[in-house]
Amino acid sequence: MLIAGNWKMNTTRATAVELAGRLVDAVGQTLRPGLNVAVFPPFVNLEAVSAVIEGSPVQLGAQNMHQDGSGAFTGEVSGDMLSSSGCQWVILGHSERRQYFREDDALVNAKDVASRKSGLQPIICVGETLEQREQGSEETVVGMQIRGAFEGIEPDDEWHPVVAYEPVWAIGTGLTATPEQAQSMHAFIRSCLSDAIGERVAADTEILYGGSMNPDNAQDLLSQDDIDGGLIGGASLKADNFASIVEAALTA
Ligand code: PEP
Repeated sequence: MLIAGNWKMNTTRATAVELAGRLVDAVGQTLRPGLNVAVFPPFVNLEAVSAVIEGSPVQLGAQNMHQDGSGAFTGEVSGDMLSSSGCQWVILGHSERRQYFREDDALVNAKDVASRKSGLQPIICVGETLEQREQGSEETVVGMQIRGAFEGIEPDDEWHPVVAYEPVWAIGTGLTATPEQAQSMHAFIRSCLSDAIGERVAADTEILYGGSMNPDNAQDLLSQDDIDGGLIGGASLKADNFASIVEAALTA
C-alpha cells in the first residue's frame, strides 16, 4: 500500500519545509510495514524537504523527469539528478503532463525505462477524460495507455510496477469515482497488465487511485480489492488531511 502526496506547483521553500515537518509529526509514528508514504514536492524544494524527512518513514519523490540522462535540454531534470537529491519515486504521465505538455504513451514509456535505470520507482498515471467516459470508451483509453507505457519492457524478478488510475474528471474537481467504478477499472488495469507484462508482475503491481481522494472517501476507496493506495493532490497540502488518509490506509 502506498499513500503518495502530489504537491504539484504549490509551496515555496519555507512552506514546503513547514508542511513536510507537520507531515513527519502527523504520520511519522503511525506507519506499519507494507504501508509506504511519500511526498512529491516541486523540484526546487526536493532537497529542503529531503532534509526535513530524513530519518522518518516519509519518502521522497518527484513529479516528472526527462527521459535522457544528461545534455542540452534547458530547463529539464534527469533521473540521476533526482536520485542524487534523495528521491526514491517519480510520477510519470500525470494527466496534467499529458494535457498541458503533450506527453504521450511513447514518452511515458521512455521515461519509465530511464527512471528505473536511475534507481527510481516510477508511478505511471493513466485515466480517461469525462468525454471519454461519457462515450463509454474509458477501458479502451486506459487499456491503450497501459499497453503504451509498458510496451517492449521485459519483466524481471526485481520489478514491481506502480500504476495510478486517475480519472481526469475527478482530479481537483471534488468529483470522485465511486468505489465500484474505481474497483472495476483497477481490475481491468490488472488484467491489461497481465496481458502486457505477465500474471506474476500484474498481481504484484500496486494500483493507486487518484482523483479528489480525501479523509471522507479514503476508507471506502482503499478497502476495494484492487485499490492498493492513493495518489493525492489537494488533500496532501494539509498535513491533517493527508494524515487522516494515511490513517484510513492503516485500517483498510
Ligand atoms: C492528482 O493530481 O494526482 C490528484 C489526484 O489531485 P486531487 O487529489 O486534487 O484530485
